[in-house]
Amino acid sequence: MHDQWRFDTRAVRAGQHRTGEGEHSEPIFTTSSYVFGSAAEAAARFAGEAPGNIYSRFTNPTVRAFEERLAALEGGECAVATGSGMAAILSTCLGLLAAGDHIVASRSIFGSTVVLFNKYLARCGIETTFVPLTDPEAWAAAIRPQTRLLFLETPSNPLGEVADIAALAELAHAHDALLVVDNVFCTPALQRPLALGADIVVHSATKYLDGQGRCVGGAVVGDARRVGEEVFGFLRTAGPSLSPFNAWVFLKGLETLALRMERHSASALALARWLQEQPGVTRVFYPGLPDHPQHALAARQQSAFGGVLAFEVAGGREAAWRIIDSTRLLSITANLGDARSTITHPATTTHGRLTDAERAEAGIGDGLIRISVGLEDVADIQDDLARGLGAI
Ligand SMILES: *Cc1c(COP(=O)(O)O)cnc(C)c1O
Repeated sequence: MHDQWRFDTRAVRAGQHRTGEGEHSEPIFTTSSYVFGSAAEAAARFAGEAPGNIYSRFTNPTVRAFEERLAALEGGECAVATGSGMAAILSTCLGLLAAGDHIVASRSIFGSTVVLFNKYLARCGIETTFVPLTDPEAWAAAIRPQTRLLFLETPSNPLGEVADIAALAELAHAHDALLVVDNVFCTPALQRPLALGADIVVHSATKYLDGQGRCVGGAVVGDARRVGEEVFGFLRTAGPSLSPFNAWVFLKGLETLALRMERHSASALALARWLQEQPGVTRVFYPGLPDHPQHALAARQQSAFGGVLAFEVAGGREAAWRIIDSTRLLSITANLGDARSTITHPATTTHGRLTDAERAEAGIGDGLIRISVGLEDVADIQDDLARGLGAI
């Protein structure tokens, strides 16, 4: 039925299967296992010949509701939920790849994803080549006969660089590889990579899907064979499954996702424009600004520009830390996608593990500050930053 519904209706209705109790809202099924009507029914379920739950490492009705709703929003055939965003990326890779396979990945991806690829997948014989997100020639040049997967995040963190998903999907498919997009920053409310040709979307539900900084979780969305069988097969065997309580929190988050993303984006754009006018601010990085190098692409590919922006101040680390330490409203935390605005110094936190040369290459200056713009009144966020900006 959800196939006929529009996005906002899917967000509140898709994936709900009422029990005989007539509950209006989704219940939380806190059960580890399920009873069978007979020995024959148990045998049929274990053999995969009869549908139904067996054990909550495999499937759970609350988790299933979240999976179905998210799949409906991303426009995928199915989704599998995981215990974290990193578990979603791990399950995708180990479900689909084997020793000898090769990944081409954007170098501007989440730090733990870099470590997962470089250290742990490398130990399994899966090699990764990192390329600049916005350089199509570098992507093409990095592809080998063994390349099975292209992996990216767009917009990137923290500089908001934007990659052309349709063009990279075409490149991947020309080489029999898959395009995997980490859609954490936009969520399906602003960007639907599958409709642009990507094969798989991965999520950290910890960020905007929850939206209030409560639970850790993730998901993989795509087609029934790769995601529904291969990624799910890894997940049910290896066990990085999502808890039903967290699934229930994310289900509630999805109901308000589009409304929140609209406000996050409007406030971030207003804040980006305001920051451009402030003395001491040397540069503002936000794809919604007309002078952003991929502004036209972002405007075509996304329905709004998201809630994360970065700006550079004169005076390097000392000035950036002074501004961060002067805030009273903004939370100093590396998390993002929360109703509460957060402020981060990437060079010494999220990107602190990089060498000076790697940081310079990634464009992460010492004076760079990242803000995840929350749902507070944007004038209060400006007041909070103005104090620190006035002091430098
Ligand atoms: C947070 C994050 C992840 C990892 O998700 P967890 O839920 O923390 O495991 C992956 N990708 C992006 C873009 C993220 O922001």
